[in-house]
Amino acid sequence: MKLSEVGEFGLIDLIKDGATVDQTSLVVGIGDDAAVYVPGRGKLELLTTDMLVEKVHFDLTTTSPWQLGYKAVAVSLSDIAAMGGKPKHIVVSLALTVETSVEYVVNLYSGIKEICREYSVNLVGGDTVSSPEGLVINVAVTGEVEPAGLLRRSGAKPGDLVAVTGYLGNSACGFDLLRRRGWEDYEYAWPLVTAHLTPRPQVALGQSLAAWGATSANDISDGLASEANELAKASGKAIKLYSEKIPLSPELVQAAALFRKKPLDYALYGGEDYQLVFTISPEQFARLPQVAGQFSAIGEVAEGEGVTLLGQTGKPVRLNPKGYNHFR
Ligand code: ADP
Ligand code: MG
Repeated sequence: MKLSEVGEFGLIDLIKDGATVDQTSLVVGIGDDAAVYVPGRGKLELLTTDMLVEKVHFDLTTTSPWQLGYKAVAVSLSDIAAMGGKPKHIVVSLALTVETSVEYVVNLYSGIKEICREYSVNLVGGDTVSSPEGLVINVAVTGEVEPAGLLRRSGAKPGDLVAVTGYLGNSACGFDLLRRRGWEDYEYAWPLVTAHLTPRPQVALGQSLAAWGATSANDISDGLASEANELAKASGKAIKLYSEKIPLSPELVQAAALFRKKPLDYALYGGEDYQLVFTISPEQFARLPQVAGQFSAIGEVAEGEGVTLLGQTGKPVRLNPKGYNHFR
C-alpha cells in the first residue's frame, strides 16, 4: 500500500499500537504536541540522538526494514549505555521517499518496538516527513542515571586498565560479508552479520560499570582506535593497547581470512560494534563478574597523550583515530 493512501495521520495510527512498554513514568505518549514524562527522583537526565541516512549508514539491499528499525534504536541506546544510564523514552523522526510503502514503515516499527520491549523503552513520539531522495531515520532517546552511576569519557587514571565488553570487529566484517554473494553458506558468517544488522547495546553492563569502579567509558561506534583516542583525549592521559589482548571472535578470524584482511584491523578501524570500552583499576577489574569472557583487559592508562599499540614483536606504533569520519 502507498503512503499516500493512509496519509500522515493514518500512518501515525499504525505506529501508535504497542508504543508504550513501561507506563510508570509516562504521562503523555504519541498523540499530543509533545510527550510528557516524570523524571526519576534524584536522577540525572540523559539526552542523545543518532541519525542514519540511506547510502551513508545503510543500504536497502542488505538491510530489512525490521533490522533498520532495530539498529536505529540500538545505536542511540548504546550512547546511554556508555554514560552508565538506563534508556527511558525515544522519539523517532523519519524522512520517507514516495516509493516507501506502508508495509515498509510497519515493518520498520516492528523492529523499533521489538528493541523497545527488550530494553523496556517507550516510543513516545516522532516526526514524519517526505524526502526527495533516500530514507533518513533519527532516534533521540532520554535516559536517567544516579549521579554516582554516571560514566564520562574523562576520568581515566594512570595505572588503570583499559577494558572492553564482548568481541570487537564482528560488525564491520559482517558488513563485508553482506556484500559478498553467497555469504549465507558460511556458517561462521551468521554471528558477524547479526552483529552488524541487529547490534545489542550493552545497557545492563553500562549501568553497573560505575558501581564496579570504572573511571571512564565510551561506546565503540567508530572502531576501537577512534574510541580509545577519545578516552585518552578527554582524560588527558596516554593509552597503551596490546594487540594480542584485543578480543576477536573465532568467526571473525575465519571470515577475515576470506577477505585477506587482518582480523585486528576490523576491531581497530571497523566500527559499529556498540560494545563498551572503559578504564578501571586492576584491583577492581579483578572483581568484575566474568560471565563467559564478557570483559577483556586490553591495555593501560599512563601519563601522557595519545594511543599506542604494542604487538607481540616489533616497536609500539601510534594508533591514530582513523575510524569512519563523515567529512574526510
Ligand atoms: P505536530 O504537528 O504537532 O508536530 P505531528 O502531527 O507531527 O505533530 O505528530 C502527531 C503525534 O504523532 C505526535 O505525538 C508525534 O510525536 C507523533 N509522531 C509523528 N510522527 C511519528 C513517528 N514517525 N513516530 C512516532 N511518533 C510520531
Ligand atoms: Mg503540534
